[in-house]
Amino acid sequence: MSAPRGTKAIAADAEVAARVAATIRADVRATAAYPVPKSRGLIELHANENPWPLPAQLRGEIAAVLAEAPVHRYPDGAAEAVKAALRRALPIPDGAAIAVGSGSDELIQIVTTAIAAPGATMLAPEPTFVMYRIYAELAHVRCAGVPLRADFTVDEGALLAAIARERPALVWLASPNNPTGRVVPLPTIERVLSAAPGLVVVDEAYADFAGASLLPRVLEFANLVILRTLSKVGLAGVRLGYAVGHPAWIAEFDKVRSPYNVNALTQAAVPVVLAASDVLAGQVAAILRERDRLARALAALPGVTVFPSDANFLVARVIDAPAAAAALRAKGILVKNLHGGHPLTANCLRITVGTPAENDALLAALRATP
Ligand SMILES: *Cc1c(COP(=O)(O)O)cnc(C)c1O
Repeated sequence: MSAPRGTKAIAADAEVAARVAATIRADVRATAAYPVPKSRGLIELHANENPWPLPAQLRGEIAAVLAEAPVHRYPDGAAEAVKAALRRALPIPDGAAIAVGSGSDELIQIVTTAIAAPGATMLAPEPTFVMYRIYAELAHVRCAGVPLRADFTVDEGALLAAIARERPALVWLASPNNPTGRVVPLPTIERVLSAAPGLVVVDEAYADFAGASLLPRVLEFANLVILRTLSKVGLAGVRLGYAVGHPAWIAEFDKVRSPYNVNALTQAAVPVVLAASDVLAGQVAAILRERDRLARALAALPGVTVFPSDANFLVARVIDAPAAAAALRAKGILVKNLHGGHPLTANCLRITVGTPAENDALLAALRATP
């Protein structure tokens, strides 16, 4: 315990600041931490979470296993119970291996670290999930972006040309993509896999809403790893992501991973939720129904263009996205303003599909906004 201010000399702020400036990498000091808005009490349509809490009975079952979790011990470093539960719940081929992470964010950092040889390049269609670039820059991996088309579909010709030109060690394909919401067509993924000299990670964070997945076929390709997460289907707070691929890839990621990266409470809770897969499937079906209703209602508003979505969010172009986001915020509704992120999403809002009541509140607020 440090002594309270006033009773004992503490280091002067200026001295600490000078030491930080002399020690921490200039590029790290120049970046801002990922912004996480305060959201308590607001309608949260900004983070692509499942808007429904777990049902009370399931929460009771989770409470019971958490009460028994041996938290005085380190967790199982291999997270075997979680992996067994994932295998029971999902079409993971028998010969494929699984690496777990504290959210798939951590696995993005692990994969990036593992390929970060001097001069290595990462390539991705853009705009896409920002953490690919953030972790690449932290690891001094060169980033090459290939713009999507204006309708947010992948420009396959440009992507294949960029792969031939850049020879990337790592290609990220988020399918469905965040923040644009569309899947990458399977034939395109297959051609990227044959053209890429290194690893291709297909990030299926939103696969449950698209109804399409490469998971059953992951072992057909020598350079494919699939990344998934439980965050978007209802367990964002639990932090569990997983990578599935040939054991030769997964073994390398396991060397980069911290030994106890998935905590004991998460490891206890996840099998209980995965065993109740009907609950999450029911919530996903409800979100898909609301997605269609919300898309139609948004498209009917004057000045609003809605893009097709295969995920649990919609991208809508409005007249002035920063003003619309601020007006919604003033009414207690959070959405993601994409304006200023990438030229292709100028004046776009990314709106997570909420509960029917939340979506109605959003629509009412937009109708009242000039
Ligand atoms: C949300 C998201 C992730 C990360 O989710 P975690 O909560 O860290 O599992 C990964 N990829 C994409 C495309 C996402 O949208």
